[in-house]
Amino acid sequence: MIQIKNTAVSLILDTSDKKSLEEIKLAFLGRNGKLTLLIKDISKLPNEKRPEVGRLANEVKKAIEDTIATQELRIRQLTDQELGVRREKVDTTAPGIKPNIGHLHPMTQILMDVVDVFKTLGFQAADGPEIESDYYNFELLNIPKDHPSRDTQQTLFLDTRKSKVTPGEVILRTQTSSMQGRIMEKIKPPVRVIAPGKNFRYEQVDASHGFEFWQVEGFMVDTNVRLTDLFGTIDYVLRQLMGQGIKLKFATTNFPFVEPGIDTYIHCSVCGGRGCSFCKQSGWSEIMPAGMIHPNVLKAVGYDSQKVSGFAFAIGLSRLVTLRYQMDDLRLLTNPDLRILEQF
Ligand SMILES: [Zn+2]
Repeated sequence: MIQIKNTAVSLILDTSDKKSLEEIKLAFLGRNGKLTLLIKDISKLPNEKRPEVGRLANEVKKAIEDTIATQELRIRQLTDQELGVRREKVDTTAPGIKPNIGHLHPMTQILMDVVDVFKTLGFQAADGPEIESDYYNFELLNIPKDHPSRDTQQTLFLDTRKSKVTPGEVILRTQTSSMQGRIMEKIKPPVRVIAPGKNFRYEQVDASHGFEFWQVEGFMVDTNVRLTDLFGTIDYVLRQLMGQGIKLKFATTNFPFVEPGIDTYIHCSVCGGRGCSFCKQSGWSEIMPAGMIHPNVLKAVGYDSQKVSGFAFAIGLSRLVTLRYQMDDLRLLTNPDLRILEQF
């Protein structure tokens, strides 16, 4: 009996993990354990010996159980210590791995900048449909069906043959100017609105033209709005967006919905004015066509052209982005390649 106790205790003290401790427990105290079997045999002993052997067996059993409990505690403490050491090994000062959270597309960035600048001038931003009627895109803007200027706006028509709509009446808008009528019909002067959005034309795609392009249309109607107000607005806005050092020039031009019409050119920042494919070798890039709103347009939306006047403009947003970042090709803006987008 004492020998069993000694063997068990020395085995228990030698263990260093829970599993072998469990095995020893089974070997001595389990159903067929050495001590268990011995205790069972006590009943076979002569009567006078039983109490003494029984007492001894209980002592041995208790000693083994106590040793197991103590050793169990020690093993747990050891494991904890080891884990503690491992925890201390974590170097919390090591630089982490930066998660790639992405950022706004350069087009979105500049659009937000444009909206912010116009907000400071009291302009509200409006949104409108890309699928547009011929009326808002052309007719209302003083461009009747037979007007030659329609030829310069290669139009994409929607197939309406299966509907009641007259063929040719529903188009993809070719200019955000279509928003002028939509908004002015609803609001009486004074009006100050910008309408950013996508336009579509059936055009040959090259470095500075796309079949879809972003514009920010803007217009202001009030009493006594003059051409000089337009010049001042364009000058202020472009300098806010592109920097105070930019060079601008204005030239007269003709758009049916303005009178007079002006074109704004910005010194080409891609080539620094030396001439490149982006500015068609001229050193200047057309950036903001504008003009005083034609009286016919004011009449069409129900305004009194004798009492109010206004100006309208369109900013070529894609062109603004390419000039700001000195990109030599507009097509990069619609390229999903992350190696391009990560540069902004
Ligand atoms: Zn250039």
